[in-house]
Amino acid sequence: MKKIVMKFGGTSVGTGENIRHVAELVTKYAKDDCRVAVVVSALAGVTNSLIEVACRAKKSDEKHIEAFVKELRQKHDDAISTAIVSKEIQKEVTQIIEKTVSELEKVLTGICYVGDLTPKSKDYVVSFGERLSAPIVWGAIRDHKFETQYFTGKEAGIVTDSNFGEANPLMNFTSHLIHERLSPLLEKGVILVVTGFIAANQDGIVTTVGRGGSDYTATILGVALKADEVWIWTDVDGIMTTDPKIVPTAQMLPQLSYQEAAEMAIFGAKAMHPRALGPVIKENIPVRIRSVFHPENQGTLITKEPIAEPKEAVKAVAMIKDVAMLNVSGAGMVGAPGSYAKVFDVLGKNNINVMMISTAVSEANISFIIKRGMLGRAISNIEIALLDRGGIVSEVTTEDDVAVIAVMGANMKGTLGVASKIFSTVANAGINIRMIAQGSSELNISFVVKEKDGAAVVKAIHQEFHLSKA
Ligand code: ADP
Ligand code: ASP
Ligand code: MG
Repeated sequence: MKKIVMKFGGTSVGTGENIRHVAELVTKYAKDDCRVAVVVSALAGVTNSLIEVACRAKKSDEKHIEAFVKELRQKHDDAISTAIVSKEIQKEVTQIIEKTVSELEKVLTGICYVGDLTPKSKDYVVSFGERLSAPIVWGAIRDHKFETQYFTGKEAGIVTDSNFGEANPLMNFTSHLIHERLSPLLEKGVILVVTGFIAANQDGIVTTVGRGGSDYTATILGVALKADEVWIWTDVDGIMTTDPKIVPTAQMLPQLSYQEAAEMAIFGAKAMHPRALGPVIKENIPVRIRSVFHPENQGTLITKEPIAEPKEAVKAVAMIKDVAMLNVSGAGMVGAPGSYAKVFDVLGKNNINVMMISTAVSEANISFIIKRGMLGRAISNIEIALLDRGGIVSEVTTEDDVAVIAVMGANMKGTLGVASKIFSTVANAGINIRMIAQGSSELNISFVVKEKDGAAVVKAIHQEFHLSKA
């Protein structure tokens, strides 16, 4: 009997109707002789709204909390009444939601009075999105008369470090706990429902594994439960040649290697969390990205090696927004061994992830890309540690209105002229490039443009390399 971990993203559980559909899909596979573990995201838009309300609570906006909580309760109550038919189950789930929402209200009021929002308390607030969606999905599955049980990430046994906001699972311990707690139930045919995105550190304090992290939860569970496949159900047919919201004629890619998919995910194809492939690569568990709206399609299968290698050098182009560029310069860096290390050490110690780096042989400056939200933290810490005072850095400049464009394909390796074709396409569109990087893997060429030009660049490259449907 096959074991499948199925993850449903925010759009798949956006409304009560969608949740009903999810329950139908899950129970259909359970009937067809699959053991199913379900991972659910928060209802569409809820995580963003929780972040917003937490930030407003910090500024002591108590009125907003009241209105927010009312709306949140209503949204979930509406979902319950459409997703679940049995009045008895409806009542039970409503009580769970009510209790959870009241707890959230208290937490937000606390933040409001203290006027302080730490990464730790922010994780606690955002964890409520998944804590509210999972019981509804659980209720909808029970409605189909299947045996099912739901767990938070913490209850399931996902243990992470204490890097709040981007926590990393302690994979060995996690696998052990999940296997111990969930495997026996799965073997008995119980449909498991686990909250995505949220976990806990070794002290039991709630953590989150980064935005879009339900994908990550799914692959962690896949490994721990020794699943045959992990399915990421979403609102598009699979991984496409580019975001179909930018180019509607983008094509679905039926097959990708882990490495190719990782290159796409890292550069914000958004179809998947960047670190989600880590656990499954080691265990060689296939991942399938597929559409809840067209479940008859097989979607994109991600495995160790792609079966049929297409000849095209370029397979896909992605745009990652919400990033910022920092340029650090100083004559003191020239010919000074260890000066780059000092810069990255400051960033690393402050938990700032560097997504892309570029430097010239002159060594007088280094440019790098980080998440936009980290910009303030990066500037202040570089300033404290390295700026002037006889230090190596004399100037730090920033641009926060940029986007990274990543052009990806395994056959770019060794194919001449791909870079020149990409850059002349951008030049012909009259768009200026701010920074360039090509990894020596040659699977990916990435460059930075102003965010307002991003969509136009994606369209032009997609067209130049004939990536649209015929
Ligand atoms: P979910 O809520 O299911 O996690 P996401 O919004 O995180 O869904 O990811 C799916 C979205 O990713 C799609 O709606 C699509 O607009 C976007 N996307 C961006 N690039 C790509 C790509 N190359 N292939 C498929 N989807 C992409
Ligand atoms: N709800 C979380 C987010 O919006 C996790 C996820 O959807 O994967 O980032
Ligand atoms: Mg997602």
